[in-house]
Amino acid sequence: MKAEPQRFIENVYPDYSDGMATYNEKELLVRVETQLQKALAELTEKCPPASQATYESTGKKSLDLTMYTGSFGNVFVQWRLYQLAKARQDQARMAEFLSTALVAFKVNAGLLEKHGKKHSHSSGEEDPSFFMGKSGLYTLGALLYREAGKAAEMLGCYKAVLSALALCKLPTAEDELLYGNAGYLYCLLALYKTDPGTFDCKAEIREVMGLLKAVGGAAGKGGILIFPFPRSKSTFYYGAAHGLFGILYVLMKAIEVTGAITDPDLLEMIKKTCEQIVKAQFPTGNFPPSFGEGSKDKLVHFCHGAPGAIPMLLQAHKMFGDEAFLTAALNAGEAVWNRGILLKGNGLCHGIAGNAYMLHALYAYTNDVRWKYRCHMFADASWNESVQKAVKVYKDPTRLTAGMPDTPYSLMEGLGGSVVFYADLLHDMPDMRFPGYEL
Ligand SMILES: [Zn+2]
Repeated sequence: MKAEPQRFIENVYPDYSDGMATYNEKELLVRVETQLQKALAELTEKCPPASQATYESTGKKSLDLTMYTGSFGNVFVQWRLYQLAKARQDQARMAEFLSTALVAFKVNAGLLEKHGKKHSHSSGEEDPSFFMGKSGLYTLGALLYREAGKAAEMLGCYKAVLSALALCKLPTAEDELLYGNAGYLYCLLALYKTDPGTFDCKAEIREVMGLLKAVGGAAGKGGILIFPFPRSKSTFYYGAAHGLFGILYVLMKAIEVTGAITDPDLLEMIKKTCEQIVKAQFPTGNFPPSFGEGSKDKLVHFCHGAPGAIPMLLQAHKMFGDEAFLTAALNAGEAVWNRGILLKGNGLCHGIAGNAYMLHALYAYTNDVRWKYRCHMFADASWNESVQKAVKVYKDPTRLTAGMPDTPYSLMEGLGGSVVFYADLLHDMPDMRFPGYEL
């Protein structure tokens, strides 16, 4: 049960106490603004928004048409910058980012048309998810054209998203947020939540919920939901990207966002599954990566471990009112605070910025400034010299180049994610949401 210290840097930030003299929020946010401009300048130089290639840490360029590590992420970055400019009512910047985002969108839509299914990640099958499929790109396209007031283009993108529903029903379909149907449900919900009148996809939302219930219910026993990934194997992951946390969170959001519980049976199954999950929590607040790994208290990432559990547990508390869910979320937050300054660096999926989002989720839910402070300290860690020095020399056997993510400019692993993170911190904090996950 002992944590492996080599995966994270010991958190030496003093914890929050009332009236702390060392914490000046205003100064910190000035620094975030500086970091945003610095990161954006580097990103624009090394990986321009309209670039067709994905740059790897080895210097190689590749075609990667995904939101996760590929060029679709460029559209997301500009979309978030546009949202920040809009929150600041900065008309000039709004126009600039919207137009850049649309250029990046068109470049990627063109690449999709040209390369079709070949862009697919590893299995050779198209994926319906936000992170891995065309639905992610067209979801952003629909939102961007809506802002630009271009109805025909907006509806074209919306139709492209809806057409991906067919992929969810294929025998090759998967269920998780990263690869699969929960990731498609995220796309539908992101659209429906923004404008339910225009993006009226309640029927499709229900259909995907039904598909998830059928798979999860069949794999689980005694009215709980579990999901093997891939479906052909019997590995059951917990984490937000690969497992239960992500799937349950979007299912609960689907019930909340569409405003009607049409399936009390599903609600009961979700609640029961959440109760089971709480039982699997380590005393440290972390969670194992998959079932049967009750001794593996090591990964504290969005993709695997405590960080990704937080939005799910908070949503369970919101829906069912059971204090055990809130307690579990707060304990998961302690694990993130203690062990979340990761040697893998500043990325969203398995990095410091991604973990900061989850500390923020606790702040947004509880309104306790301790969590805002902790989130801000993780922002500080993202530029802190000694932390970044340790990141640079970290020898990660899973990486192509030491000290660097394999896709150094991408949304989920690289600098694109840092730009989004800093923009979110400067945006009104209640609106800060983990890309592709929180709704
Ligand atoms: Zn990850």
